[in-house]
Amino acid sequence: MTNYAIQINDTTLRDGEQAAGVAFNVEEKIAIATLLDSIGVHELEIGIPAMGQEEAESIKTIANLGLNAKLLGWNRANLSDIQASIDCGLERVHISVPVSDIQIAAKFGGKRQVVLDKLRDAINFAGDRGLSVSVGGEDSSRADESFLLEVAQSAQEWGAFRFRFCDTVGILNPATTYNQVSHLVSHLSIVVEMHMHDDFGLAMANTLAGIEAGATSVNTTVNGIGERAGNAPLEEVVMALKYLYSVPTGINTKRLVEISRLVAKATNYPVLPWKAIVGENTFAHESGIHAHGVLQNPVTYEPFAPEDVGWERRLVVGKHSGRHLLLSVLQQHGITLGQTEIQSVLDAVRHQSVKTKRSLTVEELLDLVPQR
Ligand SMILES: [Zn+2]
Repeated sequence: MTNYAIQINDTTLRDGEQAAGVAFNVEEKIAIATLLDSIGVHELEIGIPAMGQEEAESIKTIANLGLNAKLLGWNRANLSDIQASIDCGLERVHISVPVSDIQIAAKFGGKRQVVLDKLRDAINFAGDRGLSVSVGGEDSSRADESFLLEVAQSAQEWGAFRFRFCDTVGILNPATTYNQVSHLVSHLSIVVEMHMHDDFGLAMANTLAGIEAGATSVNTTVNGIGERAGNAPLEEVVMALKYLYSVPTGINTKRLVEISRLVAKATNYPVLPWKAIVGENTFAHESGIHAHGVLQNPVTYEPFAPEDVGWERRLVVGKHSGRHLLLSVLQQHGITLGQTEIQSVLDAVRHQSVKTKRSLTVEELLDLVPQR
């Protein structure tokens, strides 16, 4: 397996499923894991083995699929959690510990030393059983900087191969992310992983800022689903790396729309039409100026080709459409109109579009063309 500069560690099946109102069944989990694996996602966080029998069974099933992706289970720093991961057949565990004083007060009575003690015991327990260990600092972004570094360096010393920097409540901006992650990266030799939440709509920007600061592993979820406002979306991270950073990931982007639809169906929440990369409007052109431009040369109003993510360009007739677009759509249906006729069809299109508050289907458009 090629080792790419940036590793994508998708957590749709863990953090993604933690989204309020989302619950995948085992068939859906298998389908999502299989598709993510087949497009070349490097690593999958597939659930929380300690969550109970049913969750453990589905993790076991995925672990037995023979996927190429590395598989990760999410654990607290409890030996019973780690044992549950082992029982599922996992060889790689993520151990999460709270690192901010807010979290430590709520979980460990405010005792920082307890965090370190529990983490050491958990890493040793996992290491003794031959597991690869990734460690996550919950609420890293609000942690005392020196304690965060102490946890991360201790994890490294005790044998963890990676430290996950979590902006658990999504309060960073790209500049603060860059500063905090740079500091960590410069003091660690192990990989730093980004885990950004989208409470201010900055998960994606902060993820990229973290990469610029030297993080080389990234958590994503399909469609950006996850706790509260969600996580950095897989499809956006992969496409931004490809086009804005020229960083290859080896991921087959042509199936990004397919996986987005699969996850949308499994969550029972459709993606918004204007959702970046995979939304229905991403390659839809309705306004006269844009449609005219795209008909001349798609590059005028498209940042990349729709085929690149498995979409197709759509010319939509609606309130903002102009003559060129109308003529071109009608031409595709073998209809040519004169100047006066096209103006009256255009007026009718605009009227109907305002009335129905949407664009017109091709059939509706053809109905507006005078019979000849
Ligand atoms: Zn999270």
